[in-house]
Amino acid sequence: MRVCRLGAAARFGASAAGALLFWEQVGHEAEPGRLARFQLNGFLVDGQACFAALDESNLRYTRLDPRPIEDGCGLLQVVRFEQSKVDYSTGFDLSCAMAAALYWYEAEVDRLAAVDFDLGLAEIEHFGSYACRNINCGMSGHRSQHATANALDIAAFVLGDGRRIAIIEHWEHQSEESRSLASAHDAACGMFNTVLGPDYNVLHADHIHIDTGRIRTCR
Ligand SMILES: [Zn+2]
Repeated sequence: MRVCRLGAAARFGASAAGALLFWEQVGHEAEPGRLARFQLNGFLVDGQACFAALDESNLRYTRLDPRPIEDGCGLLQVVRFEQSKVDYSTGFDLSCAMAAALYWYEAEVDRLAAVDFDLGLAEIEHFGSYACRNINCGMSGHRSQHATANALDIAAFVLGDGRRIAIIEHWEHQSEESRSLASAHDAACGMFNTVLGPDYNVLHADHIHIDTGRIRTCR
């Protein structure tokens, strides 16, 4: 039976004042630069700018009706990922800032796959985004970023030829797959505020948690 997966940060907010100044110069179809994470943090405080950026991208999404935060859980400025550059194992909803970050991250992993395997990234398998729960699924403590659809748990990357690189199978072993996963993990740290993989703890043995919450962690 699958264990409850860790969430990460407890609070939702911004950490980079003025980031939108950079964002307007970039555009969402452009390659993310060194300031990508800070630009994305700007979306946490400016939802309009976030949706405007998504509208200019090739992402197809549906904006969901807000579900007010109750007991730490809810959906504000959340989108349903409909069609992106790569496929996903199942449908999911994400905060706009996370959707923007993920859209850029897809392109990053696609570039890595081209370098490592001479193949494109075809699909991302995941364990879900929204879940009204605490960090660690604890009975007490802070709410996970999953409780506001501000997180996603990535389980595997599938390449253009169908080759599947799964965290649970390949992370530990010295191989080209494990090296590519390490690269994908490191790339995530440049995009998302919190990244927690198998080296963090046993609850992350089969996935990499990513979120745009307030806590900056790369493990
Ligand atoms: Zn998670």
